[in-house]
Amino acid sequence: MTALVLKDCDVFYGKAQALHGASIDVADGEVVSLIGRNGAGKSTLLKAAIGLNPLARGQRLVGGVDASAMKPYELGRLGIAFVPENRRIFPNLTVEENLTIATVMGRTGPWTLKRVHQLFPRLEERRLSGGDTLSGGEQQMLAIGRGLLTNPKVLLLDEPTEGLAPLIVESLIEAIRMINAEGVAILLVEQNLRVPLKLAQRQFVIDNGRMVWSGTTGELQANRERIESLISV
Ligand code: ATP
Repeated sequence: MTALVLKDCDVFYGKAQALHGASIDVADGEVVSLIGRNGAGKSTLLKAAIGLNPLARGQRLVGGVDASAMKPYELGRLGIAFVPENRRIFPNLTVEENLTIATVMGRTGPWTLKRVHQLFPRLEERRLSGGDTLSGGEQQMLAIGRGLLTNPKVLLLDEPTEGLAPLIVESLIEAIRMINAEGVAILLVEQNLRVPLKLAQRQFVIDNGRMVWSGTTGELQANRERIESLISV
């Protein structure tokens, strides 16, 4: 079964077209990367996937169900969770409050506060700290933990490792592997190949709002020079 499909999607900001017939698909339990340079349309596509950007044309399928006209909260109930680039931590809430707020989505499943604490022990240590006191890595863990508490089938991660120190990046990669091993499909957005090559089975490259390449990770490695030129700034 396919967890998420976007098919031939057009998205506009006012009169400016930001996606041109873009298609992507993520199978149940798969890790897929969407790679592209700054302004290529990566966040626009993620926001189209979760209903924050309406589709002017095209189709959105979630678990085989036509969800083209659904609103973000309906898509959340169907099992899509989005971890945005700016992480959207509530600064005036504690770590624990930031997490439990996600449970109002009402989807139950294996991801509980306890399970999130097992995955990210640091969040338990810091559970009474204010959201505004967290390091970049802790913020990212919190944002991912919050997404998991909605018990998604597919987790969308927008540049999760951006600006983080190499050791933190390694531990996040390990955490994403563990999340995926529990059966959560992942759509990972990145500007370079480093993390996608380590995590994803399939890769999509976007430029100027159009998908310009897709293939397996092995195929990406075989075409690495060409792909690097498609994403270089
Ligand atoms: P980045 O790596 O910087 O996050 P991106 O690949 O995610 O880049 P998008 O943010 O999706 O790129 O932007 C794609 C295009 O849409 C860009 O030309 C951008 O200027 C434009 N755009 C994005 N958001 C808006 C908006 N809210 N209103 C108007 N134009 C927008």
